[in-house]
Amino acid sequence: MLVLVVNCGSSSLKYQVRELEPGAEGGTVLASGLIENIGGAAVRDHTQALELLAQRLEDELDGRTIDAAGHRVVHGGERFSVPALVDDGTIDAIEELSPLAPLHNPAAVLGLRAVLQKWPELPQVCVFDTAFHGTMPEHVWRYAVPEEFYERWGIRRYGFHGTSHDWVTGQAARFLGIPRPEFSCVVAHLGNGASVTAVRHGSSYDTSMGYTPLAGLVMGTRTGDLDPSVVTSLLRRDPAATPEGLDAVLNKESGLKAIAGDHDMRAVQEAADRGDERAELALAMAAYRLAKYVGGYHVAVDGAQALVFTAGIGENAVAFRKRVCDRLGALGVVLDDDANAARSRGIRRISAPESAIEVLVVPTDEEQAIASATAALVAAGSAGAPS
Ligand code: AMP
Repeated sequence: MLVLVVNCGSSSLKYQVRELEPGAEGGTVLASGLIENIGGAAVRDHTQALELLAQRLEDELDGRTIDAAGHRVVHGGERFSVPALVDDGTIDAIEELSPLAPLHNPAAVLGLRAVLQKWPELPQVCVFDTAFHGTMPEHVWRYAVPEEFYERWGIRRYGFHGTSHDWVTGQAARFLGIPRPEFSCVVAHLGNGASVTAVRHGSSYDTSMGYTPLAGLVMGTRTGDLDPSVVTSLLRRDPAATPEGLDAVLNKESGLKAIAGDHDMRAVQEAADRGDERAELALAMAAYRLAKYVGGYHVAVDGAQALVFTAGIGENAVAFRKRVCDRLGALGVVLDDDANAARSRGIRRISAPESAIEVLVVPTDEEQAIASATAALVAAGSAGAPS
């Protein structure tokens, strides 16, 4: 089966075509690419981006045609806790969730409609970033605020990066030879956006992002956890402060960027290695915040069997992993420094044999996860459909 994986931003469309068998993992990447500047002079809108994509695929796939499309959708709200085969109501439902993800869901809707217009008969599947966290218990997903906040405005913790946390959990359990329902771990997805998830018996039990992806860890440009009074206080005291302006500062001008002057972990680490004190402070803050979560989540899952690092920083930042693990001595974590420093693209163990908790690096692959979910749902759907 040829699956087109689509990840739509408001001005970009990232795609990959994978060939895979339903129920099987892996598959081969036959084509991939990025269409940028949608809304600019060359590519007017997502519909035109789809035309461009179709032309590219005709060349890259040697005339073969795709069998299904799988879309990454950031917010599935409470309605979507598993991947969904797209029918008439699905796109409208995703659009209705836009107030919860104003930057992301409208773009996904544009992508879904553009694919529908271009290939009306093509089965489409949505895979939601929030879905994996649908198993969080109520005492975890609730904020301690008046009921109306939840009933009227949908204010609760949702969590994000679920596709990656889910995928990485499955890979780690298999690597360790532990059946997933018996596997508890802490997964640190550390990219430009970063979140950490407590996985209990194979399912999400808690996660650091909340109502939006702003909560939790210190990220490239996002604050992570912050006393909400900071926002109300600034709105009252600073005549120039607006909700939109503060939103932009907290999401785009904070995190490593605010402290070290750069959002990129590589640049911050290099600056710290040269003795830059602000870069050192930023790294200390980010590592401390993560270690604090790992300690809390170790308790949340009644003892994690593994700590798993993934995404750009988690997979590559040797010094940052060491900085975090060195703070986890109280949990009995012992890093194998040579294994931590070794370069590899594969899944690997970086803890010492005597470590009380296995520490792993597991490369994430959200496209593969989306392609697998899409193939499985489409195969199940067509198996059940009248011929
Ligand atoms: P992602 O959003 O998953 O692509 O991750 C991006 C982050 O990974 C950036 O902060 C990069 O600086 C960081 N990163 C990528 N490669 C390395 C590396 N070799 N060492 C340290 N950080 C890295």
